[in-house]
Amino acid sequence: MYANVIVDIIHENVAHTFTYSVPPDMELSPGQRVLVPFGHQTKEGYVIDLSQETDLSEEKIKPVKDVLEDYPAVLPSLMELAKSMAQSSHCPLAETLRLMIPSEMRGGRVHVKLQTVARLCISGADLEEALLRQGRSQRRRLLLLMLSDGDKHLVSDLALDVRQPLADLRKLEEEGYISLSREEFLRQPGGKIDSRRAFVPDLTSLQQEILEQVLPSLSRGEGKYLLHGVTGSGKTEVFIRLVQETLKQGRGAVILVPEIALTPQMVDWFRARFGECSAVLHSRLSAGERFDEWRRIRRGDAKVVIGARSAVFAPVEKLGLIVIDEEHETSYLSDRHPRYDARDVALSRCSREHATLVMASATPSVTSFYRAKKGEYTLLDMPERVGNRPLPQVQLVDMRKELEAGNRSIFSRALSAAIRQTVRQGEQVMLLMNHRGYYSFVSCRACGTTVKCPNCDVSLTYHVGGQNLLHCHYCGHTEAVPTLCPECGSQKIRHFGAGTQQVEAELNRSFPGVRVARMDTDTTSGKEGHAKILESFRDGTCNVLVGTQMIAKGLDFPKVTLVGVIAADMTLHFPDYRARERTFQLLTQVSGRAGRGDKPGEVIIQTYRPEEPVLLASARQDYRGFFEEEIERRRIALYPPFTAMARLLVESQDASLAVKVIEVLHQKVDQLLHTHPEYREICLLMHEEQPTMTMLRGKTRYQLLFKLIAGDVTELFSRDLSDMSREPYPGADVYFEYNPSTMM
Ligand code: ADP
Ligand code: ZN
Ligand code: ZN
Repeated sequence: MYANVIVDIIHENVAHTFTYSVPPDMELSPGQRVLVPFGHQTKEGYVIDLSQETDLSEEKIKPVKDVLEDYPAVLPSLMELAKSMAQSSHCPLAETLRLMIPSEMRGGRVHVKLQTVARLCISGADLEEALLRQGRSQRRRLLLLMLSDGDKHLVSDLALDVRQPLADLRKLEEEGYISLSREEFLRQPGGKIDSRRAFVPDLTSLQQEILEQVLPSLSRGEGKYLLHGVTGSGKTEVFIRLVQETLKQGRGAVILVPEIALTPQMVDWFRARFGECSAVLHSRLSAGERFDEWRRIRRGDAKVVIGARSAVFAPVEKLGLIVIDEEHETSYLSDRHPRYDARDVALSRCSREHATLVMASATPSVTSFYRAKKGEYTLLDMPERVGNRPLPQVQLVDMRKELEAGNRSIFSRALSAAIRQTVRQGEQVMLLMNHRGYYSFVSCRACGTTVKCPNCDVSLTYHVGGQNLLHCHYCGHTEAVPTLCPECGSQKIRHFGAGTQQVEAELNRSFPGVRVARMDTDTTSGKEGHAKILESFRDGTCNVLVGTQMIAKGLDFPKVTLVGVIAADMTLHFPDYRARERTFQLLTQVSGRAGRGDKPGEVIIQTYRPEEPVLLASARQDYRGFFEEEIERRRIALYPPFTAMARLLVESQDASLAVKVIEVLHQKVDQLLHTHPEYREICLLMHEEQPTMTMLRGKTRYQLLFKLIAGDVTELFSRDLSDMSREPYPGADVYFEYNPSTMM
């Protein structure tokens, strides 16, 4: 017997299977991981297939050294997925196979934890007799009673009631009443399940309607849906019912949510409804926890998986359903190699494994909605909130007028008044400071002044990683970052890593009595950072929550009646063709946090451009209005979904080398277009330029942008570009990116 093995090394020269002989006493099946000799080393590898014969000569073939797990770590369906992903993204199979197992498994970095477990071996009259025979030992009698349910019990659990029980347990084992064994014990993150959250509501008629549409295709194992449901329309309950139905059919389900939405709140809720049969996968788990959750899924103990992007590869054996909540989120795009879009992977998994796909959002991505309108997905609509709660009232405030009126605060008069009133009424406020990580304002910590553009009267932005310059997004004006505050002369002028700190400071200064919780990447580090902040807001310790995009999604706080957006312009003028889409999504999502309880919500959006159609559409909560305008703009400007965006990106510590390399690439592309006239039909090449992040980690960056029209040769062309990026360019790194999640 011979095994064809992909060795776990990512290099083009070894991107094919190697043949090893299988020792007679070893049993192997495809997907299993093995240790194999490779050159002078021992490497991990994946068995791709097995054969009785080989063309290679006997003496050249070495035997497989060892088996890493006694089960295939990669399921057959996921093996097929890995193969097709390797093919479509032009990368070695070893690279896509790595996606299918938790990274901790590679290199033997996690170990199976064994614990001592006790179990009763007798029952009925024998148990009665055993209890009597323990005569004077209360401890052993108690232990027998604790085990009398017949279940396995961890000795460490028994020790909570009977201190140091091991000696007594050994005695009981000698007498043949119980058995003790060392067993694999799986860590369960999140601890005990809170059954208070297990409340099951009656479905609304809208929820009922949606289920009636989807359930038949769920039983047939087919269907691709895009569920457009306004915030608060009760989509989660629909997912839960779909998952329950999937379980009834003996199959499993994967629920994908953005990493950011994997709040303890959401996780608790799912665990309450699905108990032990659910598993959670997200990046805050420890390596051991993640490995254990993965194994509970692989063994079939957990059939419902809730997780972030990479959970799309969860080893659910009989897959019946994949749900992608907040379908529009960019976090579904992986920017690490191998790049993938979890939505495409889910689609491919569902059709391969005969499962139903449900993508949902209050603000579907323009591309998905376009596909649904073309009939590629079935469109489902939930236009109303649960319990006929009204959507919040949204007001746009013109910040230019505030300045004219002499208001220099970051809060407009309308927002100040609303905060005051909301807090006085004992209700809660959420404030969004939607800066993007790489941008920030420069402001003075002493007096709160921000540095403004002399032409436009808007704050200048500071590009982290760029030169020490401030930029105006409106007119292109640039100037050096001042060392003294132009207003008060203080030296405490600097860019804020998170504008949220400034909002917090100003709240404390202007509104005595507010108790502010702040949530951004600074405050949520640490495993429970998220949970603590949210809890202080939920229990009312704090009445104002300030945060970045983190607070915009998925949170459900019934006492929040006011939502304020400090600066809508930040996302609107972000240099990306998706800036309007992102702005609409963000504003709609954050508005959706208001008025989820009995009282209606109010939203105040501050902007320097209140006439902007995107802002007007989000104030009306008019997704279709936004969509129609945006799709037209993209049709004319040839942006996705009408084209795919791609780029060749050069990074080098040597600025002049970066320029040289991009010029070389440009020539090569011209040459390619010359020799393949058919490529010219599908390629729109733009001129070489510097991306928004002109420097990153000390490297100068240049890019060559493409818009690619879908056609017969599009894939071939991108393969050629990808190959071009892999040629050696000494002193520079070259990347080919196809529909990247950001183009900064
Ligand atoms: P979405 O995800 O669509 O924004 P949620 O699923 O968070 O909305 O639901 C909004 C609120 O409505 C939640 O507080 C949820 O508990 C509640 N809810 C959902 N379905 C029902 C129902 N059938 N009856 C009563 N309350 C419901
Ligand atoms: Zn300007
Ligand atoms: Zn100052």
